[in-house]
Amino acid sequence: MADKDCLFCRILDGDIPADIVYESDTAIAFRDINPQAPTHVVIIPRKHIATINDIDADDQAIVGSLYTAASTIAREEGFSEQGYRAVMNCNKAAGQTVFHIHLHLLGGRVLTWPPG
Ligand code: 5GP
Ligand code: ZN
Repeated sequence: MADKDCLFCRILDGDIPADIVYESDTAIAFRDINPQAPTHVVIIPRKHIATINDIDADDQAIVGSLYTAASTIAREEGFSEQGYRAVMNCNKAAGQTVFHIHLHLLGGRVLTWPPG
């Protein structure tokens, strides 16, 4: 299931260090190396899924677990009531650079809309 050429699979395998803030049976989360907000965490499934387009019907519980991870981390970071953003980019035009789906959790500042 792990892809040896995938950066996030390598983080999952412990080959590349990361500041992990959350772990469950289906997902892990770690601090983004290039944060765009006071808190910027990347939440990924343990299963390698390249893009939103590759999510199968069987993956719905896994993908749902990314959102329960987001609300848990937001509560722990202290901004669940203030507000935050959980967003996933798909493919080139949206700026996806790592092809293992991930939910960006951004919080700790006012976030403008629409994003660029
Ligand atoms: P994307 O552009 O694909 O939506 O998001 C990929 C994210 O992964 C970016 O925000 C980028 O800063 C982050 N990232 C890339 N390489 C690493 C890394 O080696 N470690 C961590 N913690 N984050 C990374
Ligand atoms: Zn992967």
